[in-house]
Amino acid sequence: MISVAEALTRITAAFEPVPGETVALSEGLGRVLAADVTARLTQPPAAVSAMDGYAVRAADVADPPVRLRVVGHVPAGGVYEGTIGPGQAARIFTGAPVPAGADAIVIQEDTEADGDHVLIKAAAAQGRYIRPAGLDFRAGEVGLRAGQRLGPRDIGLAAAMNWPWLRVRRRPRVAILSTGDEIVLPGEPLGRSQIVSSNGPALAAFVTACGAQPQHLGIATDDRAALAALVAEAEGADLLVTTGGVSVGEHDLVREVLGTRGFDLDFWKIAMRPGKPLMFGRIGTTPILGLPGNPVSALVCAILFLGPAIDALLGVPATSGPGERAYLGRDLPANDHRQEYLRARLDIDSAGRRIAMPFERQDSSMLATLARADCLVVRPPHAAPAKAGEAIEIIPLSI
Ligand code: AMP
Ligand code: MG
Repeated sequence: MISVAEALTRITAAFEPVPGETVALSEGLGRVLAADVTARLTQPPAAVSAMDGYAVRAADVADPPVRLRVVGHVPAGGVYEGTIGPGQAARIFTGAPVPAGADAIVIQEDTEADGDHVLIKAAAAQGRYIRPAGLDFRAGEVGLRAGQRLGPRDIGLAAAMNWPWLRVRRRPRVAILSTGDEIVLPGEPLGRSQIVSSNGPALAAFVTACGAQPQHLGIATDDRAALAALVAEAEGADLLVTTGGVSVGEHDLVREVLGTRGFDLDFWKIAMRPGKPLMFGRIGTTPILGLPGNPVSALVCAILFLGPAIDALLGVPATSGPGERAYLGRDLPANDHRQEYLRARLDIDSAGRRIAMPFERQDSSMLATLARADCLVVRPPHAAPAKAGEAIEIIPLSI
């Protein structure tokens, strides 16, 4: 049995980033950059006004009120070709280029139009309300880094940097194989002792949410030939994920069947709860992650190991540093040798602190409490009894 940290290190070390592909900017949301995005232009390209008002020479308005002659009119997108001389001003609007000669903007609210003149009622220091060229970014500057997952703000920055397309990692192909004589697809007729496969749909959704492409191989019965046939279909996948059949019962055939196909086992037991029987290894070049069958175990292991495995395939750097913290909402007993992950609600108390309240029952078949949970409370191996109000580590359930 190995520790969670060791299992994570061994799993993530087994993956190389998949190749890149080019997609339209509009398809970029949620994708991971395969190359840095550098600005293809300087923004703003020239000094522009930050306000509606008048472009002036700061020296002319040092001692208001003063009357200036309006010699130009510059809307956004326009340009004044002349130069603002002493005693002159140009009407200007937000985003318009500042004419030569002018070095400050007086906002409209501090002026009074007077035919072809304007009365300036407030001084403006040099540079006031002027956005210098390159204030936002300069041509060649790196805006977004390879390995970044793109959110809406990043799409906006890439657009501003004048990129209509993006170089991203192709979506990793993750084959998913559910196993068990008792498992049927949602909506299928159910026999007396059969149960609906929740793991397949949940894992496919998890894989999609992580930015990969799920490939549903279906359900293999607990039968060597059926398992072998479906495992063969995973060829070409970047990762095969199985659920169920990795425990010690005589119907747990996944390890044995993979063994007949040249499976190179790395490990298959982790000191954690839920989810002790977790198997990792590879056939040829295809890594295989064997998740437990119990729905909560399968999904908690997906969060802890499958997510980081997909990140490694996408070239997303592993996160480091301390985990997130919250305060315990109730006492907890001492823990045994297995690292424990407790489903919990997260509330904010009147002082604005996060309070994690672990659910009373933590059976690994109880999917409803996982769906309702806001976070997992992490209990290290051999943790002493914990009191309500103590700070503890949590993993927020963001997806
Ligand atoms: P196993 O590891 O195959 O012994 O499965 C452990 C438990 O998880 C059993 O109660 C199975 O019925 C259940 N289980 C296995 N696969 C699934 C699945 N795809 N969806 C929901 N429950 C499952
Ligand atoms: Mg089974």
